[in-house]
Amino acid sequence: MSILSVFKKKKTVSDNRAPSYSSCNGRENSGLADTRAAIDELSKVVKDIPEAVEIYLALGNLYRSQGEIERAAQIRNSLIVRPGLAPETKARALYELGRDFNRGGFLDRAVNALEKAHEIVGDSPEILTELAEISASSREFENAVFYYSKLGQPVQEAHYMSRLAEDDFNAGEEARANRTLKKALKISPYSVESWLLVLTRLKKEGSLDKFTKKFHTALSQVPVNLRFVIIEGLLAESLVFGDTPINKGEPDIERNQPFYEVMIDEIDKSDPDVIMYYYGARLLQLCSKQDDASVWLEKTLMLNQNFWLARLELFNLAQGQQQLTASFKNQLDFFVNIARKVQRFTCSSCGLKRDRIFFICPRCRSWHSITFRKELNQ
Ligand SMILES: [Zn+2]
Repeated sequence: MSILSVFKKKKTVSDNRAPSYSSCNGRENSGLADTRAAIDELSKVVKDIPEAVEIYLALGNLYRSQGEIERAAQIRNSLIVRPGLAPETKARALYELGRDFNRGGFLDRAVNALEKAHEIVGDSPEILTELAEISASSREFENAVFYYSKLGQPVQEAHYMSRLAEDDFNAGEEARANRTLKKALKISPYSVESWLLVLTRLKKEGSLDKFTKKFHTALSQVPVNLRFVIIEGLLAESLVFGDTPINKGEPDIERNQPFYEVMIDEIDKSDPDVIMYYYGARLLQLCSKQDDASVWLEKTLMLNQNFWLARLELFNLAQGQQQLTASFKNQLDFFVNIARKVQRFTCSSCGLKRDRIFFICPRCRSWHSITFRKELNQ
C-alpha cells in the first residue's frame, strides 16, 4: 500500500511559494525570511485543525526543504502524539520524520522513525526505499540487499551483493565473497557490476581458462549497451566500486597480454559494434599490434563516421609517419592531449559527464544510465 496516496492529492500545497511582501526584488535573504515567516504563520493556523493534517505535514516538508530540520521534526512529533490520529496518518508523519532526520544526517534516528512507520503500515515501497537508501549510504550493504529484495528490485539487490562481495575479497574472505557473487548473478544474470567483479578477480588470480569462459558468458548476458563497462573496468585496474582514479601506475603488460588476447578474440567474434571495436583497438595497441589496431579503428568509422575517439587515435598514429617540424609537432601534441582529456562517459538521464565508469549516477541517482559518448556533441 502506498502511504503517499493520501498525500498526493494535496501535493500542490508544498509546491506553492509563500507570498513575499518584500518590496526589495531579488533580495534573497529577505525573501527567505518572508517564506519562513509565512510557514510559521500557516503552521500556527493549521496546527490544531484535524482536517488540515496534510497541509501541516506539507509545511513540515517546506521546513525540511529550507534546511530547518528541527522545526520540520517538531511538526511531525506534534502530530504523532495527537490523540485519535488515524494510523495511516501517524505512519505518514513517522515516514516524513525519518526523511527529516536522513536529510539532517541523523541516520540512526531516521531508521528508527522509518521502522516505526513500517510497523504500522507494513511493506510500503516508499518506506522500504528510504530504508534501502540509508543502508546503502551508510555502507550497511547487507541491509540494503534485504530491503531491495523486499522491494523486488533485482538490479539494486545484485549491486549491493557485489559490494558486499568486494568488501569480503578485501578482507580475505574469498569463499564467502564468491558465494555472494554467485547468488548476485542468480538474482540478476545481467548485473554488469557482478560480472565485472567476477572477471577482475579471475584476472587478478591469473585463471585464464576460467576467465575465457566467464568473459564469453558475461558479454552475452549484460545488456548490449553496457558491455563496454566490463572492458573499461578491466582496463582500469582498480577496485570495481572504489574511487581510485583510473589507469594509475604502469599496467603489467606481460601479465595482462593473454587476458587482452582473450578479450580481443571475443570482441572479434561478436556482432559489429562501434564501441566494442574501439576497445578492441585499444587492447591491440596495448599488445603492441599497432597495424591491427588501425584496421579496427577504421572499422569503427565505417559504422559511425562521427566517432571522434577513433579519429583522434588514427590521427595520432598517422602523426608518427609524417615529417613534422618540432614546433608543428608541439602544437599538435598539445591538441591531442587536450582531446584525450575529454570525458568519455555520460549519464543518459541527466547528462553528467565523467571519465570513470559508474553504476549509479552520482548526480541524479539513476541506475545503469551510463553511456559512451560516441559523438562529441553528446
Ligand atoms: Zn544522471
